[in-house]
Amino acid sequence: MAENSDYNNNKYALALVNIKGLGVKTYSYIIPDEMKNKIKIGQAILVPFGRQGLIKAFCAGFSDYLPQEIKAKKINKILDETPLFSVEYLKLLEWIANYYCCDLVTVLNTAIPLKLIEKESKKELSVEFITFDNASKRQIQVLEILKKSGKMPLIFFEKYAKTTRNTVKKLEKLGCLRITEEELYRNPLDILQIKETEPLFNLTDEQKQVYEGIKKQIKNSKSKNNILLHGVTASGKTEVYFKLIDDTIKSGKNVLFLAPEIALASQLSKRLAKKFGTSDVAIWHSSISEGERYDVWQKLYKNEIKILAGARSAVFAPLQNIGLIIIDEEHESAYKQTNPAPRYDARTVARKLAEFHDCALVSGSATPDISSYYRAINTNSLFELKHRYNNAKIPPVTVINMQEYGRAAYKNLISVPLQTEIKKTLDNGKQVIILINRRGFSTFTQCQSCGHVIECPNCAIPMIWHAKENRLKCHYCNHISIFPDFCPQCGSDALKNSGAGTQKIEHYIRELFPQHRIERIDSDILTRKGEHIRLLERFQQGDIDILVGTQMIAKGLDNPNVTLVGVISADASFNLPDFRASERGFQLLTQVAGRAGRGEYSGSVMFQTYNPDFYALASAKSQNYSEFYNTEISAREEFDYPPFSKIIRLIISSTNNFRAEKSAREIALRMSVMTEKLGFTERLDILGPSACVIERINGLYRYQIILKNKADIKGHQFVSGFLSRITMPKDVRLAADVDPLDIL
Ligand SMILES: [Zn+2]
Ligand SMILES: [Zn+2]
Repeated sequence: MAENSDYNNNKYALALVNIKGLGVKTYSYIIPDEMKNKIKIGQAILVPFGRQGLIKAFCAGFSDYLPQEIKAKKINKILDETPLFSVEYLKLLEWIANYYCCDLVTVLNTAIPLKLIEKESKKELSVEFITFDNASKRQIQVLEILKKSGKMPLIFFEKYAKTTRNTVKKLEKLGCLRITEEELYRNPLDILQIKETEPLFNLTDEQKQVYEGIKKQIKNSKSKNNILLHGVTASGKTEVYFKLIDDTIKSGKNVLFLAPEIALASQLSKRLAKKFGTSDVAIWHSSISEGERYDVWQKLYKNEIKILAGARSAVFAPLQNIGLIIIDEEHESAYKQTNPAPRYDARTVARKLAEFHDCALVSGSATPDISSYYRAINTNSLFELKHRYNNAKIPPVTVINMQEYGRAAYKNLISVPLQTEIKKTLDNGKQVIILINRRGFSTFTQCQSCGHVIECPNCAIPMIWHAKENRLKCHYCNHISIFPDFCPQCGSDALKNSGAGTQKIEHYIRELFPQHRIERIDSDILTRKGEHIRLLERFQQGDIDILVGTQMIAKGLDNPNVTLVGVISADASFNLPDFRASERGFQLLTQVAGRAGRGEYSGSVMFQTYNPDFYALASAKSQNYSEFYNTEISAREEFDYPPFSKIIRLIISSTNNFRAEKSAREIALRMSVMTEKLGFTERLDILGPSACVIERINGLYRYQIILKNKADIKGHQFVSGFLSRITMPKDVRLAADVDPLDIL
């Protein structure tokens, strides 16, 4: 829809309009003669819209035809000469819509902040320090913060100084500060007032070598967007990134730095601000306010930001003139949006973005995604850091075969060798991490008489007992029920909780080590805002001796005082019926093992398992990524799984089981007829339909069709086209998930 040239002689402009409750839509408007050579894509315009009268919209393209038999109205006015997004930007969004088999409007709604498309931009109240005179002791504390920070938006100041509008008004009356109305751009980082700076670069020989190699690759190679930095845990990848960032900025270009999670992105932005200065750095993620987003957007578009750090949605920020994109911890699944559509993967979008900007893309991880590693090897773009920073050693892993301990070990959950090691570590004044990748107390509740397992009434999965509340919870739909006295199937009172979750392990550890400080981190504690971060900080400061948790504790923790990591059911993640289960399990074990012995004290790791010979576990024990990769990649090749195909998963769901299945069958059939007609069968495998592994979630029966696409974007376009033409019964839902995280 967009044309290459900025200027045009077209009859109509496509306007993006924000309709309350519906989000962003496009409509056609006549371009009046006097605007013909002035109007550009990305400009804010004023258009008539039904009863609402004149509203603000954005020009998103041109055409000579009207899409339907409608009478178009004229554009009233161009509001601002400076566009807020470019033709290239819209092209990227179109590519995303195509690739992820959804429509452009869905992508637009995710990418462009609603505030950009509001009736009018509002002016902000800002606040400025005048004097400490007349202020009370408590008020002076508030004023000191303002004095240090200088002028800032009022709402920001209230948040930052933890004060109220009332106090600020009182201080205004006392003449201590001034409130003014003006248009101020907010950068969330400004309030940090970072004065300290990090030292300049001090790379180890190995880091220097890798850095030089990457630099050469960026200069010479056509595949500069496949660069992968595979560095063992605690090898100092960030040092290499920062040196590359420094080079990029010095060459006059900008940098996009992606981290998998908001917490990691904000940590990162602080470090970047310390090193490169606050005014050049901005942060972007889904939790910054609409107002902040709008302001950062303006700054980005005006090329006033050099480094943008953010979580996955930062790939949509209109950073100009990009010279380098970095994706840290690139194996993390948080880069993919699973719901709602667009179900995009920031890693894939970033690669496209790098292509658009003809810039370098460097991904980094200790446990790279199999597909990234494959791509890097095949384009000579793999760089490795094999040693830990500061000569710290990679901790040895002991595998404890729980079968040898029989029933006694099962009852204790924590084997004797692990107990001994925990005690030794605590006696030495060091800290312990215990990973158990299941939250709740037990993993299922079963009747000892008839074998019945209590399942969620909405979802086809076992309910999980939470001891504290004495309730059964469904981890998919959050359904909660009381613990029954009798088996609902046979009436026996022999209901028993089996398996172990985080709560049970926490409970046992408290019994074993009553004098020590023990805390638990899993998604159940996320309901208390900030609790996760607080616990991690307390652990970092040494206020917690043993931290028990799910995979949430495997990430990012860099605590030199941790010398022991224990994993309770190391094989738990391998047992899922999913082609990525081994990869996920290997990554989790390697990452959590990497939390031990990062500083001057050497560490050790223990995996408890019933399946010690499994290849992914054996490779995780020896911390041998390439060994794992070699086994895994041949299995993928044999079954045409990624990277040898792209998976497109169609999920058909309904409260009516019969109609869901019928629709799924019809879709699969019509699709195979179409592929045959187009001679596409070789390149698009259609598998299924089959019931999903989790047959029912939230009362919806689920069926899936798995497409293995070997035809690149053509395959995606085929599926997009197919989906846009198909009509489903009213009570049946159809969702497409491209490159799904799992097929459960
Ligand atoms: Zn029973
Ligand atoms: Zn449920």
